[in-house]
Amino acid sequence: MKTSPVSCAGHGKLPEFLARRVVVQDLGHTTPCLEWDAALHLGYGWVSHKGKPQLAHRLAYEAINGPIPEGPVKDRTHCPQGHAYAGDNLIIAKSGAKVCRICKRASDARRRARHV
Ligand SMILES: [Zn+2]
Repeated sequence: MKTSPVSCAGHGKLPEFLARRVVVQDLGHTTPCLEWDAALHLGYGWVSHKGKPQLAHRLAYEAINGPIPEGPVKDRTHCPQGHAYAGDNLIIAKSGAKVCRICKRASDARRRARHV
């Protein structure tokens, strides 16, 4: 089947260059799905945007939900050391980044130790 679900929500928020490549199909979901009607590669819809091929579902997500954070971090609920970003352990930095209190305390302690 030459279709790839792009999004089931926020149809009206898609930019024109994406919207003209999708067709709305009722696949029996609670809402009609947008089906990719252009290039497919590895099972995903691709579109040339800003001079390079990009994943349609990613662009669609960004169009609806805002930019996807750069970098390899996939698990946004735990710090790189595996501590949960939750409760007292979660600090929101001025930049908006999540900071792990356990790791911050450890790095502060290391910094202090160097200056003693
Ligand atoms: Zn941590």
